[in-house]
Amino acid sequence: MREINFLVENNARRIWHPMAHPKDMQDHPPRIIMKGEGIFVTDIEGKTVLDAVGGLWNVTLGYSCDPIKKAIADQLTELPYYSGFRGVSTGPAIELAYELTEWFRPEGMVRAFFTSGGSDSVETALRLARQYWKIRGQRDRTKFLALKKGYHGTHFGGASVNGNANFRRNYEPLLPGVYHIPSPWTYRNPFNETDPARLARLCANALADEIEFQGADTIAAFIMEPVLGAGGVIVPHESFMGLVSEICDRYGILLISDEVVTGFGRSGAWSGARLWNVKPDMMTIAKAVTSGYFPLGATMIGDKIAEAFESDETSFGSIGHGYTYSGHPVGCAAGIAALAETRRLKLDVKATTSGAVLNEALAALKQKHDIVGDVRGKGLMAALELVADRGTKKALDKKIVGKIADAIYDAGVMVRVSGSNIILSPPLIITADDARTIARAIDHGLSAA
Ligand code: PMP
Repeated sequence: MREINFLVENNARRIWHPMAHPKDMQDHPPRIIMKGEGIFVTDIEGKTVLDAVGGLWNVTLGYSCDPIKKAIADQLTELPYYSGFRGVSTGPAIELAYELTEWFRPEGMVRAFFTSGGSDSVETALRLARQYWKIRGQRDRTKFLALKKGYHGTHFGGASVNGNANFRRNYEPLLPGVYHIPSPWTYRNPFNETDPARLARLCANALADEIEFQGADTIAAFIMEPVLGAGGVIVPHESFMGLVSEICDRYGILLISDEVVTGFGRSGAWSGARLWNVKPDMMTIAKAVTSGYFPLGATMIGDKIAEAFESDETSFGSIGHGYTYSGHPVGCAAGIAALAETRRLKLDVKATTSGAVLNEALAALKQKHDIVGDVRGKGLMAALELVADRGTKKALDKKIVGKIADAIYDAGVMVRVSGSNIILSPPLIITADDARTIARAIDHGLSAA
């Protein structure tokens, strides 16, 4: 490994980082992470902190999961790569597809289409949705609907269904025929509605209204995260996704559940759709499927769609879509091991119990610190929204939010800042004590503001 100065200097001069301004790298160099162990990471200066970001929502099993490491090493020896394009397949891909379709059997998923990550999975779902309607002879069904605070990755399709202007504006024009409806976010919504159940109803009505306005027979699919992650951990009322599902059924629109964050326990259930008792038509997964140890995702396909493609007698059913790394054998081996560990350790239960402790401790911080405007969470997804003024809900200055995050880091915990939110998504193996440690460090950071 090169010495510290080389790394620090060349980071600024030779890498462009995602979701960052290249100019900013000189003034605010990122922390260079050198080592991970359990739920802790160590930076280049030798400081070790509890990783309350869990990599990027994905490292659910922490950094020392030996079964995944061994599965990767063994697979590298046996067969480091083979493709999954027509005519060839590999053992790990078949085995992981078996595990995933069993895992999501309650949601009605019967096939897996492998990808290299979440954005790929979303792109795949959007494309297959359009193709499904071509097969069904309803070729006008090309439009997509989504939530205004949703996040669905950064490919052109995903960016088009995204809600946040930061991820859209500089890349426009995006996909035509995409429309957004208000998110069930009690803290800020156009209806000024603070009751979660009533707000769920209002947002669902807005969806039905938009469908009527567009014409149901022009809409391919509605995509949503069961709990909105990157948009600031927005937890819809428990009725919301069910209402959406009913509306989609009523108008014959496909429902895509983007489970890139919520899948595999993070939301406190094995999927966000299961949390809300909903059966979507497709599910997009990534991140925790390998606990972040290998870039891999999948689009899970429900029986209705599988049936249409597999009994197709038109020329529309052949899938003209896929990635070099679809079904990468090393990634699939990592996935098989990660799922076994996720199930063995009951990470859904762990996320629920440690999440309850974390969310209670964060709620106490809202009582104590005026700059905490809102606290939201479900399972082990949580956000503190920081405001300059509770009355006007004006966002706290970004520089101050950054300083708070630095103070939290000094107190031994890594958190992620997104706008004026502090976002928490720690490994799901954290204990109740770890959850309290996270909240204590945040308390310290907020006091320093
Ligand atoms: N969908 C959701 C809900 C996500 O949170 C993300 C990433 N955080 C993506 C899609 C995109 O995944 P990736 O960054 O792996 O492409």
